[in-house]
Amino acid sequence: MTEVVRQPVKLRLTEIFASIQGESTRVGLPTTFVRLTGCPLRCSWCDTAYAFTGGEARALSDVLDDVAALGLRHVCVTGGEPLAQKYCLALLTALCDAGYSVSLETSGALDIGGVDPRVSRVMDLKAPGSAEVTRNRLENIPLLRARDELKIVLADQADYDWARAMIADHDLAARCPVLLSPVAGTLDPAQLAEWIVRDRLPVRFQLQLHKILWNDARGR
Ligand code: SF4
Repeated sequence: MTEVVRQPVKLRLTEIFASIQGESTRVGLPTTFVRLTGCPLRCSWCDTAYAFTGGEARALSDVLDDVAALGLRHVCVTGGEPLAQKYCLALLTALCDAGYSVSLETSGALDIGGVDPRVSRVMDLKAPGSAEVTRNRLENIPLLRARDELKIVLADQADYDWARAMIADHDLAARCPVLLSPVAGTLDPAQLAEWIVRDRLPVRFQLQLHKILWNDARGR
């Protein structure tokens, strides 16, 4: 008789840490971040390139133990691009089963349809200034629900004009909150705020709180 060998569910992790949520409508909430390693995109303004490679292979059960030890109710699974890992969906479901309030930060380039419906999906739309606009998986847009969020990071006025057209063409604000933020150090936040008010855009302006607090230090 052939013996069936069960492989443990393994994830590749860059880091797990407790911090303040810096983005999304959950901004300001003490949150445990689970950063999975790897991303198939290369956004021009990416601030987590250290998560592209390396990391440590961890059993799902060990990840859950680490999250529990940090003692926070909110958990954000991020990357890299977490959905690029085979067992990300299992991790998200396990976190929901354990009673956490779970969010997922995803690039919008991969299918979000398999994500546990208890998870709040914070999905990017990549504007042209990211150099990854062709990676937007537009089939994801009809999957967005009121508990999800759409995030567009803008490098310049051309990005803003693109975002405004996408919001109108796809009626994005009717699906979920739409968050616009400037690329730090590239687009003046006050300028973006003025454009939003001028055009009466149905969006939420946001700055990355963790950058204001800790200047993008890793693990914060
Ligand atoms: S999707 Fe996110 S992690 Fe990947 S390159 Fe773009 S900003 Fe960086």
